[in-house]
Amino acid sequence: MEEIGEPAYRGAQLYHALYAERRRAFASMSNLPAALRQRLADDFCVDMPTISQRFRSSDGAVRYLLSLADASGAQHTGESPARVEAVFMPADGRQTICVSTQAGCAVDCHFCLTAQLGLVRNLTAGEILAQILIVLEDHRESLAPRTNVVLMGQGEPLLNYEPVMAALRIMLDANGMALAPRHVTLSTSGIVPGIEGLAREKVRPKLAISLNASTDEERDAIMPINRKYPLAALLAACRKYPLRPWERLTFEYVLLGGFNDAPEDARRVVRLLTGLRAKVNLIPWNPGDLPYRPPAMEQLNEFRDVLAAKSVPVFVRYSRGQDIRAACGQLALGGAGTVVSTIASVPPPGRPQHTRLF
Ligand code: SAH
Ligand code: SF4
Repeated sequence: MEEIGEPAYRGAQLYHALYAERRRAFASMSNLPAALRQRLADDFCVDMPTISQRFRSSDGAVRYLLSLADASGAQHTGESPARVEAVFMPADGRQTICVSTQAGCAVDCHFCLTAQLGLVRNLTAGEILAQILIVLEDHRESLAPRTNVVLMGQGEPLLNYEPVMAALRIMLDANGMALAPRHVTLSTSGIVPGIEGLAREKVRPKLAISLNASTDEERDAIMPINRKYPLAALLAACRKYPLRPWERLTFEYVLLGGFNDAPEDARRVVRLLTGLRAKVNLIPWNPGDLPYRPPAMEQLNEFRDVLAAKSVPVFVRYSRGQDIRAACGQLALGGAGTVVSTIASVPPPGRPQHTRLF
């Protein structure tokens, strides 16, 4: 605003109109004088990703396929723009929006379909925030009072650190989107320097760590990133992480049938988490065209019971939107088609064979 000769406080008003009131058209920004609205409309535009497709799940979740105006201006050169996904999940009294932080992902977890895209590019802070604005706008008439945001879509948030932090500061700013820190969760595959960086931030979301295995050998086999940041280093960073009085660390554990779902795994998880204020979310593997299978109900229950018996808070999280490829690990820009379980093609119980090495 100063650059165009306006007083600086007009910037704060524009910011409020964009993020708190979620207005896009300058003409509708009634906190700005009419002449300024006209001037902004003449000389500037609010650029947003566009909705290419919506897929609606029978459970109410909606997956959005969004086209990004390419950072390099690719949309003008005829190259296809990068695409990402965001997911809207309504529930009683709230909605949860799952957003992407990168187009694709470089981390290469073997059980996750996003990995197959590779890293296309980092998202800007604006592109991360725009996903929330677009999805909320699309449900403007029927929004519940509370909004939760999870950074659990495509990408590894801590490998796009600065833009993710810039987006989080606006999400959590009382004059911006005004989301409460306890309603925003960042999930990481365990990027230790990123966790250490987050620990030093004044404004922080909740932190979730994708643990997914109970030994280095097992974790190496499904998450090559473990060779760089093994369990000891990861858990040391978790132990040093400054938790607020109301806060626990969340550990996500994707249960892969016959691979990491044995009671011994559960007992090792208990030992790994000893002394941490933590809770565990067990996520039965969501099918994709990969050589894994979901856990049997018996194994799932037994795993949960081992943790609960040792007083580790544990929850089983069934992902929403499986029928529209919106569930955890299914975000790979696919069409709406029902995902067919790959149970018939999986190896017998035991360790799946991997061809890709770190
Ligand atoms: N990249 C970040 C956040 C996105 S993935 C991370 O890995 O934490 C979000 C969660 O989905 C992670 O906990 C991941 O382990 C889990 N996940 C990936 N593929 C899955 C699948 N096929 N079924 C269930 N959960 C999956
Ligand atoms: Fe990337 Fe997360 Fe998928 Fe791993 S689980 S490949 S870190 S999106």
